[in-house]
Amino acid sequence: MSLPRLCIVATGGTIAGVGARPQATQAYAAAALDVAGLCATVPGLGEVARIAAEQFAAIDSKNATPAFWQSLAARLQQLLDDPGVDGVVVTHGTDTLEETAYYLHLVLKTDKPVVMVGAMRPATALSADGPLNLLDAATVAAAPGAAGRGVLVTLNHQIFGAREVAKTNANRPDAFASPNAGAMGLVQDGRVTWLARPERPHTASTPFTAATPLAPVEVVAGYAGGSAALIEAVPATGAHGLVWAGPGNGSASNEALAALERLCGAGLAVVRASRTGSGCVAASGRLPGAGTLSPWKARVLLMLVLGAGAEGTQAVQTAFDTY
Ligand code: ASP
Repeated sequence: MSLPRLCIVATGGTIAGVGARPQATQAYAAAALDVAGLCATVPGLGEVARIAAEQFAAIDSKNATPAFWQSLAARLQQLLDDPGVDGVVVTHGTDTLEETAYYLHLVLKTDKPVVMVGAMRPATALSADGPLNLLDAATVAAAPGAAGRGVLVTLNHQIFGAREVAKTNANRPDAFASPNAGAMGLVQDGRVTWLARPERPHTASTPFTAATPLAPVEVVAGYAGGSAALIEAVPATGAHGLVWAGPGNGSASNEALAALERLCGAGLAVVRASRTGSGCVAASGRLPGAGTLSPWKARVLLMLVLGAGAEGTQAVQTAFDTY
């Protein structure tokens, strides 16, 4: 049986990071190693798949932008449309990996495996996690059963769905989790074990593509004693939408709630989400709820939904109930 053909698309991040000392796990330059250097750190890659590799970008993912998401999606779509490519692996910084992953999960038109991977330690660190994470990601992309699950994220022997995955720790290699759903699978010793499938429409089953415009949306957080002035300032930024990252069940102080409802009444798309990291925020009053999406992912969906032309709170709520 011939090996699947995978393309590794490198975008930078700590997985391609270079530090001055082997114990440097926080002080290093992200995105310093090119894709050839990255692949060279992974013995056995060629036994998992026939590998092509390309350098798409070399950024720290803290600097990712919606324009970056769109151009990455356009390039991945070209690769995925190529009958000579069976799947792609995207190396990416971990800081905003979950935002890029959910965006790609909503816009790529494919059933082929798309696996994103990063690392918490730079390539030069003792016990660097990147090489095994990358080998695991290629193993997942080459595995029977990887197709049709939308965009997957593999780190630390776990496979996560793009919609549910979140970075939940600032430093440790076990930084990723899906607090509401658990892992979608495990990859260990070259073997993949599937545990779950995505429940919601994704990739080929959504109306969104890499060409869907992204409307500007801001996130404002709620906290004790927070002023409503930041909420009131959002329309002047040019934003078409606002995600409220509220405490608890996406709650807002009386003052903040009044400001959110005022802006919603004036035509700004407002969605309530929770800053807690898990749980579900239902619609309340006239403000739509983000459901189980984090504020950051609610922003991604709202950007797409508004960019695709949705109008009114009911249309926004329907999108959040669907995706
Ligand atoms: N700041 C880095 C990035 O997101 C962190 C990492 O990759 O782990 O690119």
